[in-house]
Amino acid sequence: MENIQHIVIVGGGTAGWMTAAALAKIIGPLSKITLVESEQIGTVGVGEATIPSIRLFNQLLGLDENEVLRKTKGTIKLGIEFTNWGRLRSSYLHAFGNLGLDLGMAKFYQYWLKQKHQGRDCSLWDYSFNAQAARLNRFERIEHIEGTPLSGLTHAFHFDAGLYARYLREHSEKQGVVRLEGKVNRVTLNSEDGSIESVSLENNDIIKGDLFIDCSGFKALLIDDALKSRYEDWTHYLPCDRAIAVPCESAGELLPYTKATARSAGWQWRIPLQHRIGNGHVFSSSYISDDEAQAQLMSNLDGAPTAEPKLIKFTTGMRREAWVKNCVAIGLSNGFMEPLESTSIHLIQSAISRLLTLFPNKEFSQLEIDEFNRQTAFEFESIRDFLILHYKANSRTDTDFWRDCADMTIPESLSNKIELFRENGRLFRNNDELFTDVGWLQVLIGQEISPKGFHPIADTIEAVKVDKYLDDLKQIFKREANKLGSHSDFITRYAS
Ligand code: FAD
Repeated sequence: MENIQHIVIVGGGTAGWMTAAALAKIIGPLSKITLVESEQIGTVGVGEATIPSIRLFNQLLGLDENEVLRKTKGTIKLGIEFTNWGRLRSSYLHAFGNLGLDLGMAKFYQYWLKQKHQGRDCSLWDYSFNAQAARLNRFERIEHIEGTPLSGLTHAFHFDAGLYARYLREHSEKQGVVRLEGKVNRVTLNSEDGSIESVSLENNDIIKGDLFIDCSGFKALLIDDALKSRYEDWTHYLPCDRAIAVPCESAGELLPYTKATARSAGWQWRIPLQHRIGNGHVFSSSYISDDEAQAQLMSNLDGAPTAEPKLIKFTTGMRREAWVKNCVAIGLSNGFMEPLESTSIHLIQSAISRLLTLFPNKEFSQLEIDEFNRQTAFEFESIRDFLILHYKANSRTDTDFWRDCADMTIPESLSNKIELFRENGRLFRNNDELFTDVGWLQVLIGQEISPKGFHPIADTIEAVKVDKYLDDLKQIFKREANKLGSHSDFITRYAS
């Protein structure tokens, strides 16, 4: 069986350079890697919030976390604050990490639900170390809370994705990746089997390869233009189709979390970096004009804007087949879901990991390709359901947009999940779905979906003991959060 000898990556955005860096590290000894990108075309230029799995990716590459933060002007992210989603002026956190500590056979939150049913006024987020630290703007790297079985803080980053791509470029080039500057203007298919034979550049250079990775962003030059892989449109579930992005000057304390504030026909992100705040308004063009959306964004900035606002149009959805013949689409070329839970960079990372797991030889087993596509579709669909939940579970009546979202028909996979939760708070993580029950729980409770009951096992422990258990945990998280240094001190010390 002959190995792949030449991998050609088209596109040098976050997707292209993440792919190049990981393939160079793992497959480098087997195969030459060439990346073509066009400075003239540039990158999408947004994408600043990540989830904790990014740390594993950096570890795989052997990158030092403080250096990543320094190079990307990054800050720490402990979760996302959602405001105005369930109802106007309501607010909750989707904090990373655990909630409380499971007791016996039942999940921790079943005891919390029991207390709630008994009328105790207790916040779910009192039992999240991340949430407690986030509220105080504190952060230190802590693996465990000393003297307890409790985990420490779970973090991700806010960073400048353009700087991250540049950093990975330096790293990849050191590992032998060859970068070509140029605009691809033709893709040549093999006349017998329809696979990609080569890509041609404007200067007439022809680049042949065995495996092609399409990282050309929304253009999807290979997977769409050349191979015609079908795009499944999910606008009927996730109605936002545009974003306006604008950076502004830093203001106020350096928050260790992203803000996602719902507006009249969409929502606004606020992502604090070391040198600026990234802002954007994601909205539905069927409910609000570009001018109005821009005006809403500009009147809700914490500092003076530092660039012109940029409009980006998109269609939420995914390609039914991310891998066709000898071409794999990674990044925006394969699909896009709005950055509400900061999942796009993670989707790049997991596509790379899936590609490495199913890395082909020159025969390109169709069974393996099908498996790659099945796993990719499952991952996209489960994230899609989680995002839809944020829109569906709202009791806002102030605009047509929110009323229509509350009325929309949702996928059966999601309605089953919600209904099961409504009964006795049962939540299950399906297979390898990205978001854990703790993530789902925070959004369900944060958007006021309350179960009728709780797990009967929570009744096997006396109520006073449960009360003490929860109170002790609450005190520990509060005490430990108060001991932490500030987020800005952490950044000054280790990352600036
Ligand atoms: P791009 O950055 O567009 O790169 C495409 C590359 O292909 C470029 O190098 C370009 O030059 C090259 N190219 C295109 N055509 C040609 C050609 N003909 N010849 C040669 N080269 C070519 N993700 C997150 O995880 N968190 C976020 O907070 C987040 N926020 C987002 C907000 C918005 C509004 C949008 C739209 C996306 C956001 N994303 C976010 C997604 C994130 O930006 C992307 O997943 C990430 O940047 C990867 O993009 P990409 O590399 O696929 O595409």
